[in-house]
Amino acid sequence: MKHNDENKPKITFVKSLRYTIWMYFVLFIFIVIVLMWFFQLVALPVTYQNMKIRDIKRVGKLISTQIAEENYRELFDKAAYDNNMCIKITDYFGNDFYSIDILAGSGAISPKNDSTMQTYRDLIMSSENGIIQVVVKNERFNTTTLLYGRLIGTKDDPIGFLFLNTSLDPLNSTISILQRHLFYITIILLIFGLILSFFMAKHISRPIDNITKSAKSLAEGDYNVRFDGTGYYESEKLASALNFASTEISKVDNLRRDLMANISHDLRTPLTMVKAYAEMIRDLSGDNPQKREEHLNIIIDESDRLSALVNDILDLSKIESGNSALNITEFEIGEKLDEILQRYTLFKEQKGYTFTLIKDEPVTVKADEIKIEQVLYNLINNAINYSGDSREITIRQINSKKSVRIEISDKGDGIPPELLPLIFDRYYRAEKSGRDIIGTGLGLSIVKSILKKHSFPFGVQSELGNGSTFWFEIVL
Ligand code: ADP
Repeated sequence: MKHNDENKPKITFVKSLRYTIWMYFVLFIFIVIVLMWFFQLVALPVTYQNMKIRDIKRVGKLISTQIAEENYRELFDKAAYDNNMCIKITDYFGNDFYSIDILAGSGAISPKNDSTMQTYRDLIMSSENGIIQVVVKNERFNTTTLLYGRLIGTKDDPIGFLFLNTSLDPLNSTISILQRHLFYITIILLIFGLILSFFMAKHISRPIDNITKSAKSLAEGDYNVRFDGTGYYESEKLASALNFASTEISKVDNLRRDLMANISHDLRTPLTMVKAYAEMIRDLSGDNPQKREEHLNIIIDESDRLSALVNDILDLSKIESGNSALNITEFEIGEKLDEILQRYTLFKEQKGYTFTLIKDEPVTVKADEIKIEQVLYNLINNAINYSGDSREITIRQINSKKSVRIEISDKGDGIPPELLPLIFDRYYRAEKSGRDIIGTGLGLSIVKSILKKHSFPFGVQSELGNGSTFWFEIVL
């Protein structure tokens, strides 16, 4: 039972496509959720602070340029409300010149807190460019504020101080609304994401599942199965490739069946003849030398036919299995044609065939001599078999710079155009070829295999009623 064990597919754990796609979707959903929460919890306060720092600098600069304006109060009030900031402008000694406290005393620049203000004024005076930025934590109100201080005038001639103060805590109510929303979004994303991605993964892998099902039927011998990969470009391409493969497999299977029928038929007839004539010799003609000779000759002919058939099958399988490497030698092609035609003298004399050989200048070619001989034999044999009543066969050698073209023409019935693409296929025989013409349906496929191995071009021109010309070119 070893054989069976070897054929069993090994079971290894392989993730299914659907599962993998689903996992990636889930991973993606988690990354999105983590990112959202990261921005909400970590990045939002930082971004908010940076934004506030930028704002306070900008407003500070603006106010210091607007201080000389007539309607400065109006401008400053607007700036304070627009930017949610407290503004305080004092003279050099700390006397208020302008003050607006929209943070209602929770800020760091409460006008009453004189000693703190003095500290800030000292800090500004000792700073390099007359500007300070201090983050102040107010323990009482549990708030964080940003204080911006700026000297008005120059260090040598100070006029006063500008203070801006803004909260650094993002607005709590907004934050909690955002967080609540984010929570809902997370839940929805999780539930819908998981369900949706599950069905999407199923949908994506469906064409492959379909193809797998069809492939199983194909493996079980259903060659009519159709592969359906509708949905995606790649799966459609795969399906059409598999459809092509299954059509080809079914063709091969039909060929195999035809071959079995052909070969058994072809083998059985000569065998029956051999047996019948052997029996005849035993029972009747054993004592009659003339009859015995005749019957023995039939037995020999039929045996020849059998061995020709077997040889053809062997040749083809040898050439196609790649076991026979080409044995390239140099030979003169004209001489080869003469030599081969010589062997057909018997046909000329006994059966009235005429062979016309039209040679070109002598030329030495490089090819596998024995195999090219076989090509010539097969083509000439076909010309003989299918030349009909005309029995005229012409063989032409046409030299060109790059190749020597050999043409074998007959004046037989020709080949219908729709059959032309098929005749080089294995075991293909035109219906009408029939049993009277000795053939295996392998001759032309042997020709094709040999010429393909040499990379020599070949082909056929044929017209119904006007004969056929088979040609090939020996590339120099
Ligand atoms: P076969 O053993 O039947 O001759 P081949 O492979 O040599 O097999 O040829 C395949 C088929 O091609 C033949 O059965 C015949 O129908 C057709 N054919 C081949 N050569 C000729 C020809 N010279 N004229 C007409 N038909 C031909």
